Amino acid sequence: MPRDDRRPRQAAVVRAQRALRRKRKPGPTSSPVTRTPRRGSHRLRPVIDLQDVHKTYQMGSVSVPALRGVSLRVERGEYVAIMGASGSGKTTLMNILGCLDTPTSGIYRLNGLDVRGIDEDTLCDLRNRFIGFVFQSFNLIPRTRAVANVELPLSYGGVPRKLRRNRALEAMRAVGLGDRIDHAPAELSGGQQQRVAVARALVTNPAMILADEPTGNLDTHSGAEVLRLFERLSAAGRTIILITHEEEVAAHARRVIRVRDGQIVDDSRRPVETS
Ligand code: ADP
Ligand code: MG
Repeated sequence: MPRDDRRPRQAAVVRAQRALRRKRKPGPTSSPVTRTPRRGSHRLRPVIDLQDVHKTYQMGSVSVPALRGVSLRVERGEYVAIMGASGSGKTTLMNILGCLDTPTSGIYRLNGLDVRGIDEDTLCDLRNRFIGFVFQSFNLIPRTRAVANVELPLSYGGVPRKLRRNRALEAMRAVGLGDRIDHAPAELSGGQQQRVAVARALVTNPAMILADEPTGNLDTHSGAEVLRLFERLSAAGRTIILITHEEEVAAHARRVIRVRDGQIVDDSRRPVETS
């Protein structure tokens, strides 16, 4: 299926670059946990807005439809679980939400920005600025202290060294690992490694945290630890998208979206408990 590219590519790049300039750096001193996402003019703009998104993989002469008309809005501060069986399209959806891949057709607006036709460099900048990724396998750099791992996204963003270190320390404290900054990943438990990965995702103050099976490699206890951390971040106003195939994990989210054969088949919200 041809891409729906009506607007010239150059215009998309210019739009994206302008929007990125407008969104330069939050205040460096507020805490990643207590800091509430910016208010004001962005308030009514959803973080995620997908309209009739299709993704079809081409395997030689065979077309594999992975997403078949997904429309979805996620507002700032929502905690959403995306569930589905293996092969239902979760990873494809996450790759699109995370700007790691683009739809075959349909529209994706990230934080109000239409990502169609944006070049790879600008997309990379968008990812770095708006999205904090947490993966099943932690993806920390081995033999590198935790705090340096957390600093990494800020180095790509060109943040000065001292500020980088301070914000990384603050993020480490926010995930409860202020006393583990000098430990290498191998010197940490799985749960602690994943919390370092969450600190790394938080350090840029992203518009959303995108976590793909974040507890998939953890024992029950460490998994619960990571889920508690997500709950705290959510309570502090963070936007979290959690991809999982486990009901118990999804039960922590306020909204559960179910995907089957590349389509959303259920989208339900759970009221906030008052006890
Ligand atoms: P899930 O993460 O829910 O297991 P995926 O998004 O990985 O599902 O896959 C959805 C469908 O798309 C599956 O049928 C899968 O085989 C197919 N698919 C995923 N990635 C590719 C790819 N790179 N090339 C071809 N087909 C793919
Ligand atoms: Mg998958």
